[in-house]
Amino acid sequence: MATPAGTPTGPAEPIESVEPIIELQGIRAAYGSIEVLHGVDLSVRPGEVYALLGPNGAGKTTTLNILCALMAPTAGKVIIAGRDVTGSKAEDLARAGLAMIPEGTGIFPNLTVRENLRMATFTGKKLSELEEVAYGRFKRLGERRSQVAGTMSGGEQQMLAMARGLATDPAVLILDELSMGLAPLIVEELYGVVAAIAEGGVSIVVVEQFARTVLGVSDRAAIMVHGKIRAVGEPAAIEAELSSAYLGGQ
Ligand code: ATP
Repeated sequence: MATPAGTPTGPAEPIESVEPIIELQGIRAAYGSIEVLHGVDLSVRPGEVYALLGPNGAGKTTTLNILCALMAPTAGKVIIAGRDVTGSKAEDLARAGLAMIPEGTGIFPNLTVRENLRMATFTGKKLSELEEVAYGRFKRLGERRSQVAGTMSGGEQQMLAMARGLATDPAVLILDELSMGLAPLIVEELYGVVAAIAEGGVSIVVVEQFARTVLGVSDRAAIMVHGKIRAVGEPAAIEAELSSAYLGGQ
């Protein structure tokens, strides 16, 4: 399949000169009067897999919601491909190439696999095209095309959610807790697909609470604790910091 438009960068380009595809600058966010993000800065390069890790309640999902314009920040900027999109609507960002797969997948459980894919034809793609890509990436979905999605295993449902998310040929794919409730082998399989998608030039932001598997396919990772990014770096360096973050050090 063709690589999506708008995902450039030759491999030889020095990292510093590459404009980030996503940037959050000084983001603050609150639920009512309670502030939960206290100045989050984050920058994702084109084509990279960026893992946002951290314990329960750290603010990871809130950060993703801000990124996708599902929630407005009280301060700070959201910049996508060099454009300040703070205050844009979620639909506009989706049209600009952002696809989010929420925690719990967001598929239609009462529809079959095929019908779920049909729901993605609003993107302008034909069902046959969507099926070809989905079953090409996830053989298991092809075998289960007539099965009601809600009766599939958690991992298969996650595959379907990813297949639907990819229907728009996104430049950026945002995954919230891909591994939630899934067996380690399935998680590994899903992350194999994430790596393959990234190789096609898609930038990927992935939130996880439990980190080991995602670090294996990440280019960079960040640890979020209490509404702030506490460290950003290469996966190996971040892995070394994880236990202290999870043990509650500030
Ligand atoms: P988890 O890994 O448990 O999903 P998280 O890092 O994604 O956690 P968030 O879901 O962003 O964290 O939550 C950050 C903080 O905001 C938490 O204290 C949470 O209780 C609070 N919060 C999240 N959603 C709401 C909401 N709709 N109303 C009020 N408070 C909320």
